[in-house]
Formats: sequence, structure tokens, C-alpha cells
Amino acid sequence: MSLTVIGSMALDSIETPFGKKKDILGGSATYASVSASFFSAVDIISVVGTDFPKKYLSMLKKRNIGISGIEIKEGKTFRWKARYLDMNCAETLDTRLNVFEGFRPECSGRTAGKNDLLLANIDPELQGWIFERMKPKGIVACDTMNLWITHKKKALEKLLKKVDIFLLNDAEARQLSGEKNLFEAARYIHSKGAKMIVIKKGEHGALCFSPKLKFIVPAYLLEEVVDPTGAGDTFAGGMIGYLSAHKKIDDKILRRSLVYGSILASFAVEEFSADSLAKVGKKAIDKRFRRFGQLTKHFI
Ligand code: AMP
Repeated sequence: MSLTVIGSMALDSIETPFGKKKDILGGSATYASVSASFFSAVDIISVVGTDFPKKYLSMLKKRNIGISGIEIKEGKTFRWKARYLDMNCAETLDTRLNVFEGFRPECSGRTAGKNDLLLANIDPELQGWIFERMKPKGIVACDTMNLWITHKKKALEKLLKKVDIFLLNDAEARQLSGEKNLFEAARYIHSKGAKMIVIKKGEHGALCFSPKLKFIVPAYLLEEVVDPTGAGDTFAGGMIGYLSAHKKIDDKILRRSLVYGSILASFAVEEFSADSLAKVGKKAIDKRFRRFGQLTKHFI
């Protein structure tokens, strides 16, 4: 099985209590596809400017990620500037869409034989546009952020009708639904069409709601978080990449997919940039999976 990831590729400028970095590799599609590539074949559809360092494209290629869907357009790469005073909450200081302005990729027929689609965080109008052209046959997952709930709620809710798995964080779930209680928020989002809702809660893990199954997965316990950027995208990529690698998805595979999402996210937050995530080894992932089992072993 193969997974197509669409979303942003970015140069991020990030400030956390651990340091300040300028123009480092970021973007929702970057984090998500690197994360998914540990489990399944991945293709990216995105756009970068002529200022985008070629070494990052080589890194993606080296990870076996298909990059023929990355358009290199005259102009500047998408830029995001953010600060974390509280490590659970990014304060966006500046967003420059740059080459994403009006971006509509040539993607019809791209999914021929390819089944799953992860619509990583980007303008829901663009997510919807791509969905309509690709007509994916497999799992359709979608992530979003507060900016789009504020400015493009209609487009987002239209998209929800087509989505199997919708991922968002707890504050976004409350914002979208107008409900304080996350159970109620999930019920609202379900009523809009999403079959399964995954609510990410940062260091407190993630909740999964579907009519048949509800469960909680903690975050992997870390001694130090250096930069939370990309945690949500990495979680989504790990989860959907893991699902994409399995022909038949039962409850156990579904639960495990969230565990792998948590584990990949734990690597993402230990260092700055999506480039660091790409250096993680399969052995280190397996080790954290075993440790995750020990940490969550309970007494029932
Ligand atoms: P996360 O920390 O998982 O919420 O995602 C952070 C990543 O999302 C960063 O690497 C940014 O480049 C990217 N990002 C931030 N704002 C946007 C936006 N408006 N659209 C698309 N991607 C964004």
C-alpha cells in the first residue's frame, strides 16, 4: 500500500526556551511524510520556492519518499515563525504563504493504484480541491489547525463529509464544535461526517473516538522537550503510515497506530527541525515501542 501526503513544506523560524533557530526544515507535509516513511511508501504533493535547500529534497529521496509531486516554483518557500513560551502551545508570530498563494497542483491520476491519502494541515479549500481530483480509494485522513477553523470553517466542514479519520488538537476540537467537553466535541465532529476523530492532547496523549471504539493513548514519557513543532503532523504521519502498511485494520492495529504516532512524535520534539526526525533509526523506534508497553502496563 502507498500513502500520498499533501500539506505544507516550510522553512520555520522557531523560538523555544532551548534556543532560537532560523529557516529550519518544517511544514506539515514534511513532518508527516518523514514520519509515515518509517512504515509505508510515501509520495508528497506540495510546493517549495527556488530558495528551498536541495539537501532537504535529497534527504526525502533518501528516505524513499516520492518527491516528483513537489513543485519548485519561482518565488519564496512558505515561512512560519513561532514562539513557545508554554511548550504545549505555539504562538504564531508570522505566516507567509509565499508560493502556496493560489497553489493548485496537477494531481489527477496521481493516486492510480495508490490508495491512502493524508491531507496534512493546509488550507481546507486546497485539501478539498486535491481530494476531488485524486478520488482516493483507501483511507482518507485529514489534519487542520486553529487558523482554518477561524477563517475557513465552511470549507473544513464540507471536507469532513469525505474524511475517514479527522485529527485535530483539543483546543481546536473545542473551537470547531463550541463544546467544552471533548466527548461532545467528538460527537459534533462525527455529526459533520468524519467517521473517526483523533483528538491530540500534546504531552497528555491522544483520544480516539469512533461509534464502535473509544480509547486513550498516552504520550511517550520524555525527560526533555526541546521543540514541540511538528508533533501533531508527526503523530498523524506515524499513525496513518502505520495503518497504510496494513491490509486489514482491526482494533489492535488501530490502537497500535496511535501508539506509533505517539512514539514518532516523541522523537520529533526532542530536537529542532524535521531534518532531525529523518535521522531516527528503526531500532530506536522499536525500543520505544517496547518501553511504551512497560510504561503503560496496568493492573486490570
Ligand atoms: P504542528 O506543530 O504539528 O502543529 O505543526 C507545525 C508545522 O506546521 C510547522 O513546521 C509549520 O511550517 C507548519 N504550519 C504552520 N502554520 C501553517 C499553516 N497555516 N498552513 C500549513 N502549515 C503550517
